[in-house]
Amino acid sequence: MIITRFAPSPTGTLHIGSVRTILFNWLYAKANNGKFLLRIEDTDKERSKPEFVENIFITLNNLGLDYDDEVVYQSQREKRHQEVAYKLLKDGRAYKCYCTEKELSDERDFARAHNQTPTYSRKCRNLTEDRDGPFTIRLKTELTGALHFKDLIQGDCSVKNEHMDDMILLRSNGVPTYMFAVVIDDYDMNITTVIRGTEHLNNAYRQLQIYKACEFTPPDFAHVSLIHAEDGTKLSKRNGAKSVEEYQKEGFLKEAILNYLLRLGWSYGENEIISMQDCCKIFDIKNVRSSSARFSLDKMLNINSIYIRNLSNLDLVEKLQTFDNKNRYSKEGWKRVELGMDGLKSRSRTLSELLLMSDIYGYEDNYYEKIMETTDIKNIEKFIDETLTNPWNTNNAEIWLKNFLEKTNLKLKNIAPALRLAITKSKVSPCLFEILQNLGPDLVLKRLKNAITTIL
Ligand code: GLU
Ligand code: ZN
Repeated sequence: MIITRFAPSPTGTLHIGSVRTILFNWLYAKANNGKFLLRIEDTDKERSKPEFVENIFITLNNLGLDYDDEVVYQSQREKRHQEVAYKLLKDGRAYKCYCTEKELSDERDFARAHNQTPTYSRKCRNLTEDRDGPFTIRLKTELTGALHFKDLIQGDCSVKNEHMDDMILLRSNGVPTYMFAVVIDDYDMNITTVIRGTEHLNNAYRQLQIYKACEFTPPDFAHVSLIHAEDGTKLSKRNGAKSVEEYQKEGFLKEAILNYLLRLGWSYGENEIISMQDCCKIFDIKNVRSSSARFSLDKMLNINSIYIRNLSNLDLVEKLQTFDNKNRYSKEGWKRVELGMDGLKSRSRTLSELLLMSDIYGYEDNYYEKIMETTDIKNIEKFIDETLTNPWNTNNAEIWLKNFLEKTNLKLKNIAPALRLAITKSKVSPCLFEILQNLGPDLVLKRLKNAITTIL
């Protein structure tokens, strides 16, 4: 059975880069009828914060990316990490290093001054007797040969053992290093496939050394390439690395966020839109591209607009009510919004844009722009007269408008801009006749009168 995991350190809020990692792990498990596990790597007691743990749960829950089994907290497994470290010590695969911080930093300074790589000199590796005083436990790394493995995304990877140092497994206070704890935990959790960012590729070489020393069968590795910003720089808060909640606040739908993140690295023919349910059946981590992906807000907006358009009008009204608040409009206001939704949703890329445009229908009063031009006022007066004597009804606004233009000898372009502005306060909006139809003559009259009265 395929078992994947997400193993975040709760030292900050998750941004969409991590969410893509979660998604790939989740999909790969689902596609293989496997399991997706969650492990909180909270060994760094200073930087780990409960609110960041909370944020991990909220994000997963919010996106509907469910995990299997109990959550594993790395900090609670310290005893097990110590047990394995001491076993390696007993087996002669690890050794005690008594060097002090000062000695180690002097060594590094010396190496740098002599243009050498500042790695540990291994001076405690061959000590034959135990000494007094605090010690760390270091791995007895193989000195010759090389390490090869086939990454499911990056392909063949190898490193010469001579480039590896004798890494610390257990600190002198008994706390395991990240490098070590991850190996033991992945092994104990029966993880078959480690899917994570390429920033961890170098760790894989070191972790494979630990697997070997422990005589544990290693998992498959799949290192997902980074997401770059549009200009090729590292993705940062400023250019896209926001949290899911922030994108949702801007009016992105979670389905669209997931769909977009999926497309950042994985594709299935030309299909831009693919639901997570469908993807669950066909996703394969081996098809994730090894080149880095570029974040594009435009593409994400485009996918979001497609998801918005594909929702029913009633669903969208409900989405807007939770996005903003139910009391933004009266009951009748919401009804008008629903009525005009076809025209609104085809012009909106986010829920925020949709909400702003919905104001045209949602509000009754105070929704007009003062009209100043005399010719515009004259034309609007004609429009008002016609509406008063012979208003359109619930299904003939388009014909009514044509008749009105014929009767008054006006062209649409002579009156439409002012009319649109007076009724919608905006230069862009759904078609004019659509608005007339959905607002009805009474509301239109009210707004038009307001728009011209002040200067009459
Ligand atoms: N805890 C590590 C991190 O947050 C990830 C460990 C891993 O995936 O192996 O970067
Ligand atoms: Zn030492």
